[in-house]
Amino acid sequence: MSCLFCSIVAGDIPCSKIYEDESVFAFLDIGPVSEGHTLVVPKVHAENLQAGSAPDAEALMAAVYRIAPSIMKAVGADGYNLGMNHGECAGQDVMHTHLHIMPRKNGVSRSFTKTHPSMEELTATAEKIRAELQNLANVT
Ligand code: 5GP
Ligand code: ZN
Repeated sequence: MSCLFCSIVAGDIPCSKIYEDESVFAFLDIGPVSEGHTLVVPKVHAENLQAGSAPDAEALMAAVYRIAPSIMKAVGADGYNLGMNHGECAGQDVMHTHLHIMPRKNGVSRSFTKTHPSMEELTATAEKIRAELQNLANVT
């Protein structure tokens, strides 16, 4: 079975990775609606949240709790939207469970239109986020 996000988790397709733990992998969306738009996915393939395990569902939200502050700090955001498209009827394009973290700034309209940054821009954003996560790890 070929799955885009399984291939990304396995390292077979490149991505701008920001975080991983034993059950979750997080990387930047290639079509971000805002700088720092992150996808958080379970490492174990499941087509959607309900098809996966409860511990994997819990691990997704635990990862959001852990990494969202660093994402916000890295891109100067004041908050974020969380999103999950569950099923084709809901607009799910990639059939591997994923949670969108979309950073938002005060006074900036909440666009859900995809942008097309260069790989260099995505890499630079990912580096800023990883640096913030590393800072956090050093003080806790
Ligand atoms: P969905 O519509 O399924 O909720 O979201 C899928 C997301 O995956 C989209 O926001 C899209 O931009 C992103 N995406 C699609 N292909 C790739 C890819 O190859 N790499 C990365 N990093 N993101 C992708
Ligand atoms: Zn998969």
